[in-house]
Amino acid sequence: MIVAMWETASEDQIQGVTDHLMKMGFAVHRTTGARQTVLAAVGKRIDFDIRELEVLSGVQTVHRISAPYKLVGRTFNSEGTIVKLANGVEIGGKEVVVMAGPCSVESREQLFAAADIVRRAGAKVLRGGAFKPRSSPYTFQGLGEDALKLLREAGDRYGLMVISEVMEISQIELMMPYVDIFQVGARNMQNFNLLRELGKVRKPVLMKRGIAATIEEMLLSAEYIMSGGNYQIILCERGIRTFETYTRNTLDISAIPVVHKLSHLPITSDPSHGTGLRDKVAPMACASVAAGADALLIEVHPSPDEALSDGAQSLFPEQFAELMEQLRMIAPAVGRTI
Ligand code: PEP
Ligand code: MN
Repeated sequence: MIVAMWETASEDQIQGVTDHLMKMGFAVHRTTGARQTVLAAVGKRIDFDIRELEVLSGVQTVHRISAPYKLVGRTFNSEGTIVKLANGVEIGGKEVVVMAGPCSVESREQLFAAADIVRRAGAKVLRGGAFKPRSSPYTFQGLGEDALKLLREAGDRYGLMVISEVMEISQIELMMPYVDIFQVGARNMQNFNLLRELGKVRKPVLMKRGIAATIEEMLLSAEYIMSGGNYQIILCERGIRTFETYTRNTLDISAIPVVHKLSHLPITSDPSHGTGLRDKVAPMACASVAAGADALLIEVHPSPDEALSDGAQSLFPEQFAELMEQLRMIAPAVGRTI
């Protein structure tokens, strides 16, 4: 950490900051230039709040040099994490894994039709919400355990792995026999109690970026899961809230290379929630693969106009098949397969 003192800082103030840093466990190296004094604090602590220093008298600026996380940082595993699913499919390897299916599980007919569609087009994982975090309490909230049973059955029938969202701690045990990947939704990215519990499970967790979360906050949330001992984490960029109104969210594609540089964890892109509009999904899926996404999460519905949730951003079956064809051309151009 670098602490730059004001030109006007007194010797007492400089000494005060030095003492404070040493009390925090840092070794302090002082450089006094022609104008101002700079203190370089070196140490292993990562749990400090730089504001503690910013408010000390005589301090002009404080710059953190080391990251506030350690396990999810790239240096912890420079090769990159590969999350292996139960059927051998790997997320974080050469293959870009496509997870697709409806926003919510609505009925056996709907889910089985969706599973058939996405599998034929080349998806490896079936998505479907059983517990839905809806903005309004009056909209469809999901079929709960019945949906989980259908997901497992459809997954097994069509040779697909299953991902579904866990909204609270009490659902973890219930979901365990049915899902291959636990999804943490954007609204729960900072539900730290849930993240801690998921740290204890031994199944992959796909954690979405919060609606207004920075990349650093997303990595710190993943650190909660990893510090509990679960290293099988997949991050997911699903769009963040900005001032733009033409799209539901702003899909931050730059988060993909940023995460790859900072962390060893694989990253998924969700262009469905990232844009909220069906016609924007394919271009953003293509852009995500070009930017290095390790996986895609895409909403597909056998009959989107009748969907009980997120119909407007769900692809028609033929659109999904066409997108997969496009992705098969883009992936090799960036050294990947699909
Ligand atoms: C979902 O995947 O259906 C979902 C609710 O996503 P998010 O948490 O990104 O809103
Ligand atoms: Mn949805």
